Amino acid sequence: MSDSLETRLAAVRRRIALACERAGRSPDEVALLAVSKTFPPQALRQAAELGIRRFGESRMQEIRQKDSELASLKPEWVLIGHLQTNKAKDAARLVHEVQSLDRWSLAEALDGRLQAEGRTIDVLVQVKTSPEPSKFGLEPAELAGFLERLQGLHTMRVKGLMTMAVNSPDESAVRACFRSLRELRDRMQAQGHAGLQRLSMGMSGDFEWAIQEGATEVRIGSAIFGSRQYPD
Ligand SMILES: *Cc1c(COP(=O)(O)O)cnc(C)c1O
Repeated sequence: MSDSLETRLAAVRRRIALACERAGRSPDEVALLAVSKTFPPQALRQAAELGIRRFGESRMQEIRQKDSELASLKPEWVLIGHLQTNKAKDAARLVHEVQSLDRWSLAEALDGRLQAEGRTIDVLVQVKTSPEPSKFGLEPAELAGFLERLQGLHTMRVKGLMTMAVNSPDESAVRACFRSLRELRDRMQAQGHAGLQRLSMGMSGDFEWAIQEGATEVRIGSAIFGSRQYPD
């Protein structure tokens, strides 16, 4: 059973603890978000048996399907993918937290739908720290204005920032993305956004570097669930 979910999860937790030790941080400072996108409900059941309740998913359609199949587990769905505005209604109903809030039109759509549901959720603002055109997120220069506007919406508690680093084997290039997110958070805090605490950054391929740069949460899929058979 060298390749069971339990073994892989334990190995990831050990690597997180080691990275924390190297960075002089406590492992309590770094949460693990298990990213279950594209993996079948059975994999989430197994993870739930190992104590995992929060699952990162990229697509509302997949959340909807899994939520109905896994209702008894009461999973907490964390949306980490680009959300089309016309899916805001489903998100407002089903999602525990959104980490991919990346534009004002989405914030407004979610706010309306959350009001209708009578719900308030935590959100992270996704910031583009990499020059790759495929990455979503606000430009860093837009963040201050965006946070000001979000203060007018009361259905979302803005808890921090999320980013995806450049997809590269170059440690210094990847770490520069993570560092720029931390510095941005620090600047926003200094400007009065004290609630901005969390930094969701780092995936299977780069989470140790993210921890070095101050991640408070790493989003890990393939290192826990195995390699994905099809792209998300
Ligand atoms: C898929 C995904 C992850 C996890 O990726 P792995 O490489 O499988 O760990 C993390 N964050 C986001 C935004 C993703 O889409």
